[in-house]
Amino acid sequence: MAKLLTVSGRMSVGRFEYKTKPEEKLRSNFSQRKSKGLNGFDDVKDFLHWYEHQDKICYYCELKEEEMQEIVIGGILKSNRFPQNGIIGRGQSRGVWLEVDRLNPKGNYSRDNCVLCCYFCNNDKSDVFHGDDYKEFMENRVGYLKQKIDKK
Ligand SMILES: [Zn+2]
Repeated sequence: MAKLLTVSGRMSVGRFEYKTKPEEKLRSNFSQRKSKGLNGFDDVKDFLHWYEHQDKICYYCELKEEEMQEIVIGGILKSNRFPQNGIIGRGQSRGVWLEVDRLNPKGNYSRDNCVLCCYFCNNDKSDVFHGDDYKEFMENRVGYLKQKIDKK
């Protein structure tokens, strides 16, 4: 029996094309952190070198940057912070690329303190958790919180 391949409306829009984060944006992010006194990399070159060598996969949930990008650019999930109709606008680029997260949110941005993570994990972790604690929280959210009360 032959299988018929049907092309859905969504697929006919064209194949999703993954794009890595432009160096210009990475440099601009670096400058912003530096101007806030939060930089712990030697210089922008050191940061770019670090970034280039990171697996583009969320440190916490292991979602791939490519998958996250398909979700937000493809409009699978929508937010005012995500690109609108596949177009990356001002203030509408969250989720497109993995974000640089500080394991210790009170520390600065350095090789030892930085990981790449997805939009969802970064928002969820916020400045509340250290990376290690966040991993524990992810495993059992309510259990983790209740245990905190018990240990008080
Ligand atoms: Zn994640």
